[in-house]
Amino acid sequence: MSKRALITGITGQDGSYLAEYLLGMGYEVHGVVRRMAMQNQLMRLERISHILDKLILHAGSVENYGSMFRIVESVKPDECYHLAAQSFITESFEDGHSTLNTNIIGTFNVLSVVKELTPECRFYFAASSEMFGRVTESPQNELTPFHPCSPYGVSKVAGYDLTRHFREAYGMFLVSGILFNHESPRRGMEFVTRKISRGVAMIKLGMADSLCLGNLEAKRDWGHSRDYVQVMHTMLQADKPDDYVIATGETHSVGEFCEYAFGELGLDWKNYVAIDDQFKRPHDIPLLLGDYSKAKTELGWAPTTKFAELVREMVQEDVRLLGGE
Ligand code: GDP
Repeated sequence: MSKRALITGITGQDGSYLAEYLLGMGYEVHGVVRRMAMQNQLMRLERISHILDKLILHAGSVENYGSMFRIVESVKPDECYHLAAQSFITESFEDGHSTLNTNIIGTFNVLSVVKELTPECRFYFAASSEMFGRVTESPQNELTPFHPCSPYGVSKVAGYDLTRHFREAYGMFLVSGILFNHESPRRGMEFVTRKISRGVAMIKLGMADSLCLGNLEAKRDWGHSRDYVQVMHTMLQADKPDDYVIATGETHSVGEFCEYAFGELGLDWKNYVAIDDQFKRPHDIPLLLGDYSKAKTELGWAPTTKFAELVREMVQEDVRLLGGE
C-alpha cells in the first residue's frame, strides 16, 4: 500500500514542488486548502494545476482546530508536512496579529491534532533562517542562537520550540528543517528575487523602464526550492527525529542578484534599479549564511542548483511567462 502524506500549504512554492516529488515516489498526496482557494482554482491553485487530478484536496485551515481534526481523522497520514504559514516578512510587520495567529496557533493546532489522532505520523515543520535574525556568528548552524528581527521570525521560533517540545514530551517523530531562503520561478511576486526576475523580464520586453527596490546591501543564502523539498522527505525517513539547517553555504547581496539577473538578458542593472524607501523594513537582517554540514553528514544531502543557475532559470521563465522567447 502506498504511503499517505498530508501537506499544509500545498498551494505554495514548496508545497507544489513537494507534492510533485512525493507523487513521483508513489505517495498518496493529500493537501489542506482554504475553502476560498477551492472556489477560485484558476488563481489560487495555479502552482498545482498540472497535478490537480492526482491530488486529494481538503477544504480547511490550520487556524481552525476543528477543520484540521476532521482532515487528519479522515486522511490518517503516515507523514505530515506542515508548510502553511504567512511567510512574507513585510506583511508580518504590518499585520503581526495574523502572522502570529497563523504561524503559532496554526502550528499548535496541527501538532495537537496529530498527537491526538495519529501519534505515529512523522511530522515536518518548516522552520526558517529568519529565526537567526541579527546573527552573532557566521555561518549559522543548528547551535547558533536565535535572535529574530520580525514578527515572522518570532513566530517561526515559537513553531520550532513547539515542535521540539511535543517531540520531547510525547516521544513523537517530529522534525524542523531550518531552511535558508529558497526560490524558484514559482516564488511569490512579493519576494525580492521574483520581483527582480519579473522586473528584468518586463524591462527587456518593453513593459517597464525601471525597478524600485529597498535595501540592496542585504545578503542572503539563496537555494532552489526544488532541491530543498527533497530533504524534507529525507528528514522523515531518518532513524531518529532531529533538526537540520538546509542552505547552500554561499551568500549574495540583493545588488548581486540584480547584477546576475539583468546580466542574463544583456542589461546593466545600474541603469534600471532605483531605491524606494517604502521597500525598506523597520528592522532588516544584514546577512544570512548557512552551514549545512550536519545535513550533509547525517542525511547525505547537498544542494545541486548553483546561484547563477537559479537566477537564470527564474529570469528565463519570467520572460517566457510574459510572452517573450
Ligand atoms: P526574506 O529574507 O524572507 O525577507 O526574503 P525577501 O525576498 O522578502 O527579502 C530578502 C532581502 O531583500 C531583505 O533583506 C529585504 O530587505 C531585501 N529587499 C530589498 N528590496 C526589496 C524589495 O523591494 N522587496 C523585498 N521583498 N525585499 C527587498
